[in-house]
Amino acid sequence: MNPHEQANTVQNAVDASGRHYRDSLPMIASENILSPLVAKAVNSDLHGRYAEGLPGKRYYQGCDDFDTIESIGIESAKRVFNCRFANIQSTSGTVSNIAALKALVKPGDTITAVSTADGGHISHARMGAVGLRGLDLVTYPWDEDRMEPDVDASCKLIRETKPQLALFGQSVFLFPTPLQELSDAAHEVGAKVMYDGAHVLGLIAGGQFQDPLHEGADVMTGSSHKTFPGPQGGFVLSDSEDEVLHKKLNNSIFPGTCSSYHLHHVAGKVVALAEFEAYGVDYARDIVENAKALGAGLAAEGFDVLAEERGFTESHQVLTRHGGPDSGAGMRAAQRLEDCGIIDNMNMLPGDTKAMSGPSGLRLGVPELTRVGMGVDEMQDVARFFARSLISKEDAASVCADVKEFKSRFQTVHYCLEEGPAYPGL
Ligand SMILES: *Cc1c(COP(=O)(O)O)cnc(C)c1O
Repeated sequence: MNPHEQANTVQNAVDASGRHYRDSLPMIASENILSPLVAKAVNSDLHGRYAEGLPGKRYYQGCDDFDTIESIGIESAKRVFNCRFANIQSTSGTVSNIAALKALVKPGDTITAVSTADGGHISHARMGAVGLRGLDLVTYPWDEDRMEPDVDASCKLIRETKPQLALFGQSVFLFPTPLQELSDAAHEVGAKVMYDGAHVLGLIAGGQFQDPLHEGADVMTGSSHKTFPGPQGGFVLSDSEDEVLHKKLNNSIFPGTCSSYHLHHVAGKVVALAEFEAYGVDYARDIVENAKALGAGLAAEGFDVLAEERGFTESHQVLTRHGGPDSGAGMRAAQRLEDCGIIDNMNMLPGDTKAMSGPSGLRLGVPELTRVGMGVDEMQDVARFFARSLISKEDAASVCADVKEFKSRFQTVHYCLEEGPAYPGL
């Protein structure tokens, strides 16, 4: 391939990928789309710039305008998350976690966390940030019916293990963590409490999920691009009055984990924060309503939706089961759905042990569908498409064509200051 062919091939694949999502039902729970104003900030000259340090305290010249952006953003993040400290520089949720672990614990310390099998994130595991920091990991006993840590058993574990840090939050996250009781147990043994809100940060900011920083968490981390509708990046937040902790957290981002921290993304985050201050409560409320409606709709179509007794979900996610443990039925369902124009991911459920070939479930998310204007009525239409794909097993091409026609009515980004095309430039 010559250089022109390579560049063209990339451009064609980029456009094809955009059209694929435009014409599908994108339901990956960690994904979202950018508003036009956020996209404008991201696609700016700031892309190539550096601003090591904090506003007003830089190592390079040329940062005055960026100082304005970052200072406004820090104050806006403090308002949105109702807290005393915010660092908006982190380049991802994982980087936020590595930074927070650097600030809160040292190698050889013990951490308690949710296991990856129960929905914890890889950065909470030995193969990820926890291992990178050299921590001993002890995982919480899990309540499979309630899809949350078993509170009594976990409090007991914390009291016996006496970790230096108790970490909470998951990637498979249907219900708020009973954080107050768990935090009390952790603080009793002198542990700090960290809450990873990567997935649910937009719901927390919109007051629809839980309020970790006022339920015992000393530090909250998260991604800025999952339910929080900003560009790829992260946040590190705290309501602690301890200025030594604030300084440690700032230093853990720069110079601890970032040199360039992607200034164009920071500018995009600050625009997203502004839009969140205007529309975030409605946005988060509509997402949770849609997720509940999707759970109920799928159950009515005959699917096995987890946590029915608890109303299926209180977040942006719904979990479905498509076969027995390690059956791989979730993997096959996800493949079939993609053929039918629905993009989601297979997910391990309690009892599954093989992450690549065994998952029996699907994890479905509604943030993007909500953002392009779908409401609870459309969630019934979406459930119908699932039934046509997986229960009546209609011809994939005909379901896919109907999905495309349905989706063509939802092409505008909502909950933002200037509405515009959700899939621009295609
Ligand atoms: C997605 C996720 C992360 C990682 O976030 P990135 O921004 O993708 O690095 C961290 N923690 C949890 C719980 C997550 O779900």
